[in-house]
Amino acid sequence: MSSEPAKNKPRTFAVAGLELAMAWGDGHESYLPFNLLRTHCPCAPCRVAAGRSDYKGPERPVADPPPMIVDVEPVGAYAMRIVWSDGHREGIYPFEMLRSMCPCERCAGQTASAFRADRLRES
Ligand SMILES: [Zn+2]
Ligand SMILES: [Zn+2]
Repeated sequence: MSSEPAKNKPRTFAVAGLELAMAWGDGHESYLPFNLLRTHCPCAPCRVAAGRSDYKGPERPVADPPPMIVDVEPVGAYAMRIVWSDGHREGIYPFEMLRSMCPCERCAGQTASAFRADRLRES
């Protein structure tokens, strides 16, 4: 059960309200809030701002409220670039990472160790 290609390949995605809606190859749908995406921006300055790296470059704090997503561009077959309303566009989000960030109850259960989400009763 190492990798399931369809699971990490979006069929479609769209900005809806303050969320990025993703429909995955396995039929699952994820609704990723802008602030979740922005605070997990994988570019180096954002990782520093969030205390997720020891990169020593300039910091780029996240505004509150966070900027809006103005564009999403596919990058190869594995990731997408998110363009923010404040001009930030350095973040390239691998699909696998986006899928792992899905905040729905089902996925939160699977990533409970990472996010310390409340354990829902499992049957
Ligand atoms: Zn960034
Ligand atoms: Zn999910």
